Amino acid sequence: MQQLHHYIGGKAVAGTSGRMADVFDPSRGTVSRQLPLASADETRAAIADAHTAQPDWAAMNPQRRARIMAEFASLVRAETDSLAELLSSEHGKTIADARGDVERGLDVVDFATGVPHLLKGEYTDNAGTGIDVYSMRQPLGVVAGITPFNFPAMIPLWKAAPAIACGNAFVLKPSERDPSVPLRLAELFIDAGGPPGIFNVINGDVEAVDTLLTDSRVAAVGFVGSSDIAQRVYAKATANGKRAQCFGGAKNHAVVMPDADLDSVVDALIGAGYGSAGERCMAISAVVPVGESTAEALVERLRQRAHELVVGPGDDAAVDFGPLISAQALQKVREYIDIGVAEGATLAVDGRDIAVTGHPEGYYVGPTLFDNVTPDMRIYAEEIFGPVLSVVRAHDYEAAVKLVNDHRYGNGVAVFTRDGDAARDFTRRVEVGMVGVNVPIPVPVAYHTFGGWKDSGFGDLNQHGPDSIRFYTRTKTVTTRWPAGVRSGASFVMPTMN
Ligand code: NAD
Repeated sequence: MQQLHHYIGGKAVAGTSGRMADVFDPSRGTVSRQLPLASADETRAAIADAHTAQPDWAAMNPQRRARIMAEFASLVRAETDSLAELLSSEHGKTIADARGDVERGLDVVDFATGVPHLLKGEYTDNAGTGIDVYSMRQPLGVVAGITPFNFPAMIPLWKAAPAIACGNAFVLKPSERDPSVPLRLAELFIDAGGPPGIFNVINGDVEAVDTLLTDSRVAAVGFVGSSDIAQRVYAKATANGKRAQCFGGAKNHAVVMPDADLDSVVDALIGAGYGSAGERCMAISAVVPVGESTAEALVERLRQRAHELVVGPGDDAAVDFGPLISAQALQKVREYIDIGVAEGATLAVDGRDIAVTGHPEGYYVGPTLFDNVTPDMRIYAEEIFGPVLSVVRAHDYEAAVKLVNDHRYGNGVAVFTRDGDAARDFTRRVEVGMVGVNVPIPVPVAYHTFGGWKDSGFGDLNQHGPDSIRFYTRTKTVTTRWPAGVRSGASFVMPTMN
């Protein structure tokens, strides 16, 4: 059995804590690798290494750092196919989808290669007589990323690329479910000419995370995962004086107006609801048709299309989506379907007893569709994170907007309509961080920012785009007087430029 490792100081480092976790192939339900879970001491060793390496990296001019990021991007790009296969073998998503996971991460590495421009500060000439003022952005030092299982390439790259390009050293604590791609990314950074100690990977669980949150050498923490943990990580990181941005769970609605083109809506909802087995933070999980006739037509089409979907192992090119990540996730999603039935929702398509030929031990749930879901039901209020679409009928547009705005989560939302006026009203009033108009998964491009509202995100700045540069740097403002030595005598009043 392959034993995985940590990656510290530019090399693989075996775990010494004696604690190990199994890494599974979810398509087959078998253990494929073993992962060491770091002790606090091992985590501190990674932080110490990053802390030692960071000043020289920060001192390197930004163009040289950008060149290394560009080389890193090209090495990752060249390996996209093998990374996608590795990713699929531990996550279970299809290889085509896994390729997208790598590519959306690479977009942010490309963005980070613009760091010389992005770090340019501000300058005011002659703010007072002989006085010039400028602001510069400086890196924070050592920063940590704690990432979820569902995008094991994309989210580590979203964290690592801007953090490192800005001159920080980065310690990644990836999900213990699919750690192999993050480990490979750290190796590729070294192959690209990155110095040792700038991209470290420490594998582990709560013990490693707690050490990152409490060690005074860690200046900032970027977390992505479920909301309750995101909120706890945010509270602990900030209580320990760290800058933090913690992104959480979601219940993404799709509001379908009566004038929408239902054929394209159904295509969009089937892909966004069931793609990657619904294990995307931007997956659509609540469909809100406006008006009874919209609902009747939509549910019937969704039911037909859901029945046609092919579920199977991620490495089978013929499947639409693969298994869930783990046996626990399988049990949780099945329980939610039981709960929905008990709560009185109409189970229009039942994915509980799906049989995937040749893979009886895989963690499969088939496409599941609930109709007549109401806001008080747990299957609506809570994040299921599986291939389960809930139809919540709204009698009019105002009711649909209220439904979305009343939900605890505010990650993504989509509206489907041909009416520009309705779309404009919706985008302005909806209390959600990322909005799609006839776009089911409105993940912003790398040079805009990504982040949810309400319980989907804790902290002030978003991921990637300009916010990531703000998050991973701090501003220093310098006020200078030239020529020096012009005497104006001691002054005891507040300096002004008048
Ligand atoms: P998770 O919260 O279980 O784990 C996320 C990370 O936190 C992992 O690295 C894990 O090891 C660590 N962790 C687990 N328990 C912890 C604890 N008690 N204290 C500290 N750290 C702990 O999430 P997951 O199951 O890996 O990922 C799925 C979740 O992530 C979903 O809720 C999904 O919506 C969310 N997600 C959100 C976004 C976003 O940008 N908002 C993106 C992707 C995923």
